[in-house]
Amino acid sequence: MMTSWTEHLRCPKCANTGDAELFEISPFNNGFRKVPEGFNVVAGKFGKDFHCEACMIPVAP
Ligand SMILES: [Zn+2]
Repeated sequence: MMTSWTEHLRCPKCANTGDAELFEISPFNNGFRKVPEGFNVVAGKFGKDFHCEACMIPVAP
């Protein structure tokens, strides 16, 4: 069974919020079932992160 969960995203700058749905492909490798409007997924050094589309900054999970 695949593990999946929801992350509540909130941009610290513009206060944009959304719910992302993720699932685990393998440890430290997550897939994204749903990326909320106004957010982007950016691949970084430590995996994939959500960024606010408008502010281009990482958001806190
Ligand atoms: Zn923002």
